[in-house]
Amino acid sequence: MKPEEILKKRWGYDSFKPLQKEAIEAAFEGRDCLVVLPTGGGKSLCYQLPAAAGKGLVLVVSPLIALMDDQVAAAREAGLAADALHSNLKAGPKREVYANLNNGTTELLYVSPERLLSGDLYEAIAPRLVLAAVDEAHCVSHWGHEFRPEYRKLTEALDHFPKAARMALTATATPAVREDILKQLALRSPQVLIGHPDRPNLVYRAFPRRDQVKQVLETVHRHPGEGGIVYAQTRKDVERIAAQLKKEGVSCAPYHAGLNAAERQQAQHDFVNERLDVIVATIAFGMGIDRSNVRYVVHANTPRSVEHYQQESGRAGRDGLPADCTLLFAASDLAAHRWLAKKDIHLSAERTRALEKQLKDIGRYAVAPVCRHGLLSEHFGEPYPADGGPRGEAGCGACDVCLGETKGLPEAEARLTAKKVLSAAWRAEGRYGTGYVVNLLLGRPSDRMAANGHDALQVFGLLKEAGEPAVRSWIDQLIVQDYLEVTEDDEYPLLRITAAGRALCQDKGEVRLGLPVQPAKGKKKPAALKKVAATFLQSDEELFDRLRAIRRALADKAGVAPYVICNDATLVDIAASKPATPEALLDIKGMGEKRVQKYGQFFLDAVAGKREIPLAD
Ligand code: ADP
Ligand code: MG
Ligand code: ZN
Repeated sequence: MKPEEILKKRWGYDSFKPLQKEAIEAAFEGRDCLVVLPTGGGKSLCYQLPAAAGKGLVLVVSPLIALMDDQVAAAREAGLAADALHSNLKAGPKREVYANLNNGTTELLYVSPERLLSGDLYEAIAPRLVLAAVDEAHCVSHWGHEFRPEYRKLTEALDHFPKAARMALTATATPAVREDILKQLALRSPQVLIGHPDRPNLVYRAFPRRDQVKQVLETVHRHPGEGGIVYAQTRKDVERIAAQLKKEGVSCAPYHAGLNAAERQQAQHDFVNERLDVIVATIAFGMGIDRSNVRYVVHANTPRSVEHYQQESGRAGRDGLPADCTLLFAASDLAAHRWLAKKDIHLSAERTRALEKQLKDIGRYAVAPVCRHGLLSEHFGEPYPADGGPRGEAGCGACDVCLGETKGLPEAEARLTAKKVLSAAWRAEGRYGTGYVVNLLLGRPSDRMAANGHDALQVFGLLKEAGEPAVRSWIDQLIVQDYLEVTEDDEYPLLRITAAGRALCQDKGEVRLGLPVQPAKGKKKPAALKKVAATFLQSDEELFDRLRAIRRALADKAGVAPYVICNDATLVDIAASKPATPEALLDIKGMGEKRVQKYGQFFLDAVAGKREIPLAD
């Protein structure tokens, strides 16, 4: 059977996503390959489809036991003979896995790295193995964000299967991480497949943080009943924000390393099974969350790097439907990251430089009044749009800048404003904190100000009209552009003008300043959302909700996560096109033969308007 035919029959998809076919062909040819595709890019299919071709066994090394069972369940939904081996497996199921392996029925086997490295599988696997896939391959690299020592030993294990092709897969890989993967996994003249990092269905926004909880709630309220993740910096932040969201009636739970394992597991389980809408978490949460209908990710604090941001925000919208990613920025977050990094470990000069660059990059991303899709793509070394062509009048149509929610000041105005802010900092001589300089610019008198004679300065009240949020944001924007700095060596953080800042006051250098625009009432919807909404009527929405409830009931009964049954994009398709027969259902994207057999009648009944959910006990 041709790959396209297997894709349609097993998964119900008509066409491959970018680079899937190339990866699959490499596997068929027995060639090693590296696959870099963004989250939601469909990496699993690259090794699952070869397993479905009946040519032999496919092994998948995956670092996350929690995820493995769901992945196996999803592969079985596509009709694959899939199993997993990991330390949490009970004796009975384990025997079954071995039996399947020994009688040659297993097509796809997931293992944890520890399990593989223990060595007792080599003999059973080696004769039938055609492909060894290493998922989350960035874990081999110190340069990545999730280094795992046992990943470094994987080549030892892979060397037991000299005839099997190797496939390494990851979502975000900078050139350094890529090099590391190729080397550490000893890929042999590999085909390197690098997808475009852009996620067109994500709407990116970055705003200065003014009122954290209120701003978080703006996004949460836009998505009633939908799944979302709110990231905060510290455990305390998490607890505080979660408590306030709960008070507002939001279905949510906190998640951080200070909770015990059972509490964390419960929160994660409830979220994945759609019994909980929102998780408020530190970055301890996320890897191993494959819930595909996360509709938004809000960063209540600034993440550590653009790589972290890409990874964390990327958990939204895996199903390809529109999703919101909002970052609330404050320069003080960067100082907190710096402080933490330096406290924990003794940093080499090289690592310190790397850290400073990461902080600078994420700061620039957050405050530059420039298309965010463009900034992210360019950060990962790719042009935007992918073909490098013009962006068109509406820009990407899916970020705060292109949607007109953040406005860049015209060049002359930006320069003038910057000079006003800088001259106040200059006059304060680096002896005061940000708050003092803000008060100076806003013309707020105080005893201290009078004692210093600063209330008589020309800069006193120079930006009174702009208001405090704008002035604070401009200071942050000037910090990330290196015109101002906050000194840390003192007991109190002091705001100081830099040499570049003094040069800018003499019109040497470029500056960009932006300002969030107060959203107008009945504000326009992002283009991506409009496209879906146009074909989606009120009645479809009700049907969609009912289909979701049926899916949850089916998932409960089968003991799997709802996204394993099928994703939201498939349900949207059913709700919009209302198939009446199993044949028509087969035409829906994501409904393969096995799924239609197993669940078709339930979905068809819902479309036909049969009221009760057949499964709910
Ligand atoms: P990744 O591991 O790259 O983040 P997944 O393998 O989890 O991505 O796939 C993301 C989503 O894309 C899944 O819901 C999957 O069913 C869907 N998908 C995969 N391949 C295709 C395809 N060819 N056409 C449409 N959807 C696809
Ligand atoms: Mg994956
Ligand atoms: Zn844009």
